Amino acid sequence: MESCDSTACQSAREIFTELEEIYDDQNLYFRTITSVLEAASALEVPHRLKLMLTQPKNEIMVHCPVEMDDGSWRLFKGYRVQHNNVLGPYKGGIRYHPEVKLDEVKTLALLMTMKCALARLPFGGAKGALRINPQEVSKDELMRVTRRLTAALGDNIGPDYDIPAPDVGTNAQVMAWMADTYINFAESSSKVSARGVVTGKPLAFGGSAGREKATGQGLVYVLDALLPNMGIELDTVSCSLIGYGNVGSWTARLLQKRGTTLKAVMDHSGAIFNPDGIDADALALHVSTTGGVHNFAAAKAISNDAFYATPVDLFIPAALEQMVDLEHAKRIQCKVLVEGANAPTTPHAERYLLEQGIEVLPAILCNAGGVTVSYFEWKQNRQSETWDEALVDERLKATMTRSAERVLKMSKRLNCNMRIASYASAIEHIDKVYELRGVFP
Ligand code: GLU
Repeated sequence: MESCDSTACQSAREIFTELEEIYDDQNLYFRTITSVLEAASALEVPHRLKLMLTQPKNEIMVHCPVEMDDGSWRLFKGYRVQHNNVLGPYKGGIRYHPEVKLDEVKTLALLMTMKCALARLPFGGAKGALRINPQEVSKDELMRVTRRLTAALGDNIGPDYDIPAPDVGTNAQVMAWMADTYINFAESSSKVSARGVVTGKPLAFGGSAGREKATGQGLVYVLDALLPNMGIELDTVSCSLIGYGNVGSWTARLLQKRGTTLKAVMDHSGAIFNPDGIDADALALHVSTTGGVHNFAAAKAISNDAFYATPVDLFIPAALEQMVDLEHAKRIQCKVLVEGANAPTTPHAERYLLEQGIEVLPAILCNAGGVTVSYFEWKQNRQSETWDEALVDERLKATMTRSAERVLKMSKRLNCNMRIASYASAIEHIDKVYELRGVFP
C-alpha cells in the first residue's frame, strides 16, 4: 500500500475537504489530482482554478439493456465524464473493459484535459467507458450495445460538444457504429457534420490517414525531441514494453524502423525475451491471431519478475493504469521510463525512479499523438478535406515537438520533474483562457 504524507498530498486533501469529497491515498483520482494540484501551486494560479480542476464538470452514468444472441438480456453500465471544456468541446476516448470504475474514468478525463491543453488543441477533456469484456461478446452483440450506449448518451455527445474516440477495448469499427447511430438521430440539415461526433473512424468513413498508428508515432516524435538532450541516440537503443495493443505494437514497429532493439514484452498472457531483438511486425501478427504474446516462437518465455529486471535503455508501459508500482520500480533497469499508457506509474514508483536518476516521461506528453490526429480528423471532417499520411505525420511531428519543448522549458523554469512540468504547462494555458473568458456569470 502506498500512502502519502507529502505536502502535495496534504494540500490535495484540503481541496477535497473544501469540496466535501472523500479522499483516499489508494484512489487513482486522488493520486492523479495531487500531482496536478502540485503543478498548479508551483504556478501560483487562483484558488478557484484548483477547485474547478479537482471536480469534473459532469459525470454521466447510463445503463444499457441489450438482448444477447441467445435471447437472454444483459444490462451494461456506461460512463461519460466531462472534466473541463474551457478550451473547446470535451474530447476523449471510450473504453470497453469489464472492471472499469467511475474513478478510473474521472482520472482519464482529467488527464485528457491536461493532454489537450499541453498540446494546445482546441479541446477540453472527457472520457467514457462501458463495463463489458469485448472479447466475450459476438460482433452483433458488440454493435447492439454500442448503438444502445450512443443512444443513451444522446445529446451529451456531439461534434461541437463532446467527441469520443477509441481507447482500450474499442476500435475504428466501434466508432463507425457510434457515428452511424448518432447520424440517424441527427436533423437532416446536420447529417454531414454529425459524422464529426467521433474520431478514430475507419478511413473509408471519415477517418484520417495515420490515426491508427498516431499514438505510437507521436511517442517516437517525443523521443526524437527529448533523447538527444539526455545523450541517447534512438537508433542504437534497446527497449522493453508492457502491453502489445494499439499503442504498444505501433510503438514497437515504428521504433524498430528506427533501429531500436525490442528485448522484452509482457502482456496479460505472459512475458517474452530475446537478447538479439524480437521482430515487432511478426509479434504483431502473432498477437492478432492468438490474442497475446505467449507462445511467440522467436523469443523465450520469462517470468514477470525477469521481464522487469531486463536491462534496457527505454522501458515503455503501454497497457493499463498503475501497473508499475514501487516493487516493480526497484527491479527496473533502464535509463528512461516512457509512459505510453495513461497513468501507468504509481507516485511512489515514480519518486523512486527519479531518485535513481531514471527519467520519467509523462503520458500526457508521450501519448498525445492519438488525440492530436483525432483533432486533425475532426478538422478534416469539418472542412470536407482528406489529408495524406505525409501531411498528417508532418503536422503531428510539429505538434509533438512543440509540446516536448514546452515541457522541457517549464521543467527548467520551475526546476521540477517532467510530470509536474507537463501539468504546469497545461494549467498555465487553461488559466490564461479562464482569465480571458472569465467564469460565467
Ligand atoms: N484514447 C486516446 C487517449 O487517451 C485518444 C483520445 C482521442 O483521440 O480523443 O489519448
